[in-house]
Amino acid sequence: MTSKPRVRIAPSPTGAIHLGLARTALFNWAFARGREGTFILRVEDTDRERSTRASEEAILEGLAWLGLDWDEGPDAGGAFEPYRQSERIERHLERANELLEAGFAYRCFCTPQRLEELRERQMQAKQTPAYDRTCRSLDPAESARRAEAGEPFVLRFAVPEGETGFEDLVRGRVTFQHTEIDDWIMVRRDGNPTYNFVVVCDDVDMQISHVFRGEEHLVNTPKQILLYRALGAEPPAFGHLPLMLGPDKKKLSKRSGDTSLEDYRGKGYPPEAVLNFLALQGWALDGETEVFSVDQLLAKFDIKDVSKGGSIFDFDKFLWMAGEYVHVEDVDRIIERSAPFLVEAGLMSRDEIEARSDWLRTVVGMERERIRLYSDLPGRIAHYFAASDGVTYQPKAEKGARKHDTRTDTLASFRAWLAERPEWTGADPAESARTLGEAAKAWVGEQGLKIPALFQPLRCALTGMPGGPDLFETLLVLGRESALERIEAGIERLA
Ligand code: GLU
Repeated sequence: MTSKPRVRIAPSPTGAIHLGLARTALFNWAFARGREGTFILRVEDTDRERSTRASEEAILEGLAWLGLDWDEGPDAGGAFEPYRQSERIERHLERANELLEAGFAYRCFCTPQRLEELRERQMQAKQTPAYDRTCRSLDPAESARRAEAGEPFVLRFAVPEGETGFEDLVRGRVTFQHTEIDDWIMVRRDGNPTYNFVVVCDDVDMQISHVFRGEEHLVNTPKQILLYRALGAEPPAFGHLPLMLGPDKKKLSKRSGDTSLEDYRGKGYPPEAVLNFLALQGWALDGETEVFSVDQLLAKFDIKDVSKGGSIFDFDKFLWMAGEYVHVEDVDRIIERSAPFLVEAGLMSRDEIEARSDWLRTVVGMERERIRLYSDLPGRIAHYFAASDGVTYQPKAEKGARKHDTRTDTLASFRAWLAERPEWTGADPAESARTLGEAAKAWVGEQGLKIPALFQPLRCALTGMPGGPDLFETLLVLGRESALERIEAGIERLA
């Protein structure tokens, strides 16, 4: 075994990327990247019926979106090609034959019907269903003769007596009694090898040094260790990652919220926030810092620090984390990542986004601290695209505006005052917004009013929203004509 780790993930291309898979990928990647190791992506498409190429492509694309990269894989190539299990089947069957010849495996000719009856009998007797090993004592010559004659069979692993223990890098010492392990099937009647068998063949051939995967695979590990030994190979180090639990403390599932990476990507989560949040599922940087960079993660990540208790996936905190990233993100990147949502909302075409980039930069800069997801942006800026008399008044904004009996008169006199202001033609928008704001506050005082008596009706008339960025910046972005028209419409609508 080389000293630099070789780790892998083996996703099955049968559907979306579950958050659990994304976290497993992240931990393997972080472990490899922090140790000059190799991270391998091997597609486990042994389930022929459910595996699709489209799903494989989506998994690769989704993991790349998250910020992961792999050194070897079906797209990247590598010294141990091919990286799709279905393309390695000859090798698997060759290994199966070796094990059969060496007596570590045997042919089982029991019919499905017999196995079903056996199972029922065991269930009735309240025993754990297991194969009764009838065919294990078949004479090898007889077994070969029956196979030759075309009798269908499965290949089973002959589990020896004893126990298997190993040092799990997350969970500590784990021991399984072999009496709990069935003579499991390595190759099915249709000639297709099973997961437990191929995963070991491939991990041996690809010189995998560490296997980090979900806790649900813990029961498979003793079977696999026995197989390594039978193949004359040194088992890798194992680490089983804690289950990701929903807020109800049950295994994370659709019941509690969205569970696939694509769901969050589709909702406009920044990938950096997703990666950061996934890193916290069973691991912590220092027990305090929750928002950290990839570099910090890579510098500190060690599988030994992963906790063995299930981690609870806090959806609210995930959303908060998204905001932590967006609030400090570069405006141009927010625009780039929000563009699909602006287009989808029908606010702007790609060409308009391009053509009005200065304007967009300004409004995104103003709204950045109020959005958490890229998909929040259209809702924040939709009012700019409304007709002057068609701004949607949100109930809270309108209620706030209507609290003030003076609202229409105030808006009318403010409008007349505003129309004559010099800031409309000011060269420096930030400076103009500042002086306009100060002048407006002074104006409010002169009218004998309190600030909200102007600001609430004004904001409602201009944006329809109860809150938002600086009101006078907003005014100047709208421009004189549009702002005055909106106020005029507001005087009527709020009367
Ligand atoms: N296809 C399996 C999974 O995604 C691979 C398990 C393993 O890493 O051995 O759960």
